[in-house]
Amino acid sequence: MSARATVAAMTAYTLELREAEIKLNQNESPSDLPVELKREVLARLEEQPWNRYPDFESSTLRGALAVAYDLTPEQILVGNGSNELLAAAIGTFVGPGTPVVIPTPTFTLYEKLVTVAGGLPVPIEFDPARGELPLDEMIRVLSGLRDAVVIFCSPNNPTGGVMPVGGLERLLATGATVLYDRAYDDFADADDPSAVPLSAAIAPLNERLVTFSTFSKAWGLAGLRVGWLASTAETCRQIRKVKLPYSLNVLSEAIASLALERRDLRDANVARLTRERERLMRFLLDMDGITPFPSSANFVTFRLDRTGCNSAFDQLCADGILIRDVSSYPGLRNCLRVTIGTREQNDRFLTSLQEIA
Ligand code: PMP
Repeated sequence: MSARATVAAMTAYTLELREAEIKLNQNESPSDLPVELKREVLARLEEQPWNRYPDFESSTLRGALAVAYDLTPEQILVGNGSNELLAAAIGTFVGPGTPVVIPTPTFTLYEKLVTVAGGLPVPIEFDPARGELPLDEMIRVLSGLRDAVVIFCSPNNPTGGVMPVGGLERLLATGATVLYDRAYDDFADADDPSAVPLSAAIAPLNERLVTFSTFSKAWGLAGLRVGWLASTAETCRQIRKVKLPYSLNVLSEAIASLALERRDLRDANVARLTRERERLMRFLLDMDGITPFPSSANFVTFRLDRTGCNSAFDQLCADGILIRDVSSYPGLRNCLRVTIGTREQNDRFLTSLQEIA
């Protein structure tokens, strides 16, 4: 028995596996939780049974998220990274032949999950230099489709641009089901992130809207694999039929719940990284031979105007700096993506790039 033809024709989600002193290739947070906090959470975990399955409802984390984001627990599902929840939501809304509009280039997992579900990806290519997702083109295409789904992330990975203001409402008005990935939303407009309630980022709930969030970026917990989604209680009930039970383990649930109690750490991280992004962007804009795309996320993608991206990538690796080659994405010929790191890491990257570009 061989793999289904659809699967056999797909390529795997891949990552360049290289060791490097400075790792700026996966949009992770450069700062870890303080060690005292790790000890505190491990002490709490000692008291929990590890021989028992996690709480079926993940009540602790859903309750804490509901308070922090001004929702009810019934409007929230949590899972093993937002990847898992994206898969569950796509499994809920996308069946054989469902058209799924996807602005491109974007996170490649969307197209893979849609393809596995038998849906028909409808890519809408856009120019990353615009700094905005192609809203008008998306609306135009959606208006000619029935029972369509649209998936986007804003800020978009890997280009960094955002959905224009009012875009979400216009997409919902087409009648499509909207899957909105907020993985990098914390970094989008944050002069002083501590002054903005977390709930400000949550759009009004709608039966046809699902938003996806993650603890992997601004909250700095990528290794723990915690994501969550928000929608109406009814839509959550439907998606829950598809989602795997017990996918969030006791350790990750406890640590994410504790992280929510320490919102100050997330705020400081966001403030530091957005300041660094702006500094890095100014340097890149001034550099000869480099064209960066506008970014509201914790990374910047740029085009090399003279040097080949393969040799630039290898040279950065030789200098101990691992970034991401995104040149095979549609519209990103000769482009690389760098995650914002600490000030020292960013300086090392800029110094190295200056010699290469
Ligand atoms: N959405 C986007 C746009 C991403 O870039 C990523 C991580 N690369 C994810 C979702 C996955 O997040 P998680 O770690 O929560 O699975």
